[in-house]
Amino acid sequence: MWRLLEDPQISHAFDNFLVAAGMKKGRHRGPKWHDGDFYKWLEAAAFVYGVTKDENLNRQMDRIIEVIGKVQREDGYIHTPVLIQQSAQGVEFREFKNRLDFETYNMGHLMTCACVHYRATGKISLLRIAEKTTDYMYSLYKTSPEILANNAICPSHYMGVVEMYRTTHDPRYLELAQGLIGIRNLVKDGSDHNQDRIPFPQQTQAVGHAVRANYLYAGIADLCAETGEKSFLNTLQSIWRDVVYRKMYISGTTGALYDGASPDGSKDHQAIQLVHQAYGRAYQLPNITAYNESCATIGFVLWNWRMLQITTQAQYADVIELALYNGVLSAISLDGKRYFYTNPLCHVKYLPFELRWSRKREKYISCFCCPPNIVRTIAEASNYGYSMSDEGIWVNLYGSNVLDATLSDGAKVKLTQQTDYPWEGTVRITLENTPEKEFTIFLRIPGWCRGASVNVNDKRIDKNLKPEQYFPLKRKWSTGDTIELILPMPTQLIEAHPLVEELRNQVAVKRGPIVYCLESLDLPPDIRITDIAIPHSIKFENTWHRDLLGGITVLQGFAQLRSRGDWGNTLYRTLSPRNEKAVSIRMIPYYTWNNRGDSEMTVWLPLQ
Ligand SMILES: [Zn+2]
Repeated sequence: MWRLLEDPQISHAFDNFLVAAGMKKGRHRGPKWHDGDFYKWLEAAAFVYGVTKDENLNRQMDRIIEVIGKVQREDGYIHTPVLIQQSAQGVEFREFKNRLDFETYNMGHLMTCACVHYRATGKISLLRIAEKTTDYMYSLYKTSPEILANNAICPSHYMGVVEMYRTTHDPRYLELAQGLIGIRNLVKDGSDHNQDRIPFPQQTQAVGHAVRANYLYAGIADLCAETGEKSFLNTLQSIWRDVVYRKMYISGTTGALYDGASPDGSKDHQAIQLVHQAYGRAYQLPNITAYNESCATIGFVLWNWRMLQITTQAQYADVIELALYNGVLSAISLDGKRYFYTNPLCHVKYLPFELRWSRKREKYISCFCCPPNIVRTIAEASNYGYSMSDEGIWVNLYGSNVLDATLSDGAKVKLTQQTDYPWEGTVRITLENTPEKEFTIFLRIPGWCRGASVNVNDKRIDKNLKPEQYFPLKRKWSTGDTIELILPMPTQLIEAHPLVEELRNQVAVKRGPIVYCLESLDLPPDIRITDIAIPHSIKFENTWHRDLLGGITVLQGFAQLRSRGDWGNTLYRTLSPRNEKAVSIRMIPYYTWNNRGDSEMTVWLPLQ
């Protein structure tokens, strides 16, 4: 990705910084939010450095940070499109002239990136730059709050400012974060598209541009986490229920629509405005034209993570797991070189209309917001594995790993987790080092799991654990103690709420947290995905394939062939007699589709 971002023939991200720093002649090129995309990549690099301590990466970051420092204006403002114009035209060219210049978005990503860089390296070089930027934003908030209010587009800076407060403990930054939310009512001509048509505390539904929405909700959750503010949290919970009960795809993705209108169904026609890349109405979940921008999935993970931290409710961890394994992973090819901007749940070769974005993964996308966002999310996924509280350790996600941690009172704990999750549901945790005192290990029992049980030192502690909760194991642990969690993981057929018209009489296949799909490459050559129906009684056999698609569990079963015939120009026809012919099908995890060349794909299949 660095090669893409550095190469001026492909991307202009780093080139824009060089030009703005006066180190190269040229003009600004690429989208106005390209700086933010670049900071996301730098954040991923910093996090990777924190794990690998690769000195080449460290030096490379130092070189980049030196350039960023040269770009920054003395007062802390930093945004290459405007700074390049200002150096050509002088101060006549003003900042914040167009809210779609994404200035606060770019600066917000700089703040988050700087905090991660500081934690990973211990260096203050980028943090100092971000502090100047946050100070600039603070003084703008004091003098011209309406400017900041009108320029809060895709507000990554809400999360960024709170993160700066957590890192520096500067109380002005918390005041700024509170103020940024407070001034949202100063917005002129607000819209559902930007979630500012009505004051935030009065909102009950997820509306408008899904990336902007999820970034807003994540930022406000960050603020609630720091202030303990309850009414915003209630609003967030009500919006969350709207998404998870009515607007989320089975893959954990959000933002169903390429284009739509909001407020939908308003009696006042004048109030209805266009929205794009947006949440649709309740139960409106098309598959072929699903928008599901990768950044919206990531924003959704960020939001759910913050909700989990505030509430410790396992429902949020369920969504994080669902979105990571399905929505986030499907956004990138297995070789890590191609990306989806939009994430459909069905792909057919012939469509009688064009869509705005490619229906295949691409190496480079002119709007490059998603790829570095995917990279930083995957790089930082280990952050979500555990949480800590005064009571002890919360195991949020399962996967083989080592946790070397310090409890809130300074006591050291080390444990290992061994498992083949998500392909198998047995998780074994061994205490390698434990303090001489009682503490709790909270095990997450996923919402999809029935009949979970837990053994400690081979002794059954409990069975039939309630799903969608954390099961607490409180005791004085000894080194060598083992916990065995058994999560039964049968293959399940899933149906959707009957008001989801696109999914009537269809089923999806899920095993544990993994959503499966049918790709036409796994069917005989003359059979299409639209020819397949799933019998109610289907039995799937699951087999582990080490060499297929990076190592996956494949599901095999006998489906039913449907009568196809020649549709031609027919839109409706008399139903043909039932075809009783069985056909063997093989289903693969949804996240692995479109990795073996062009194919048709579907997650949902009609029920026979
Ligand atoms: Zn994006």
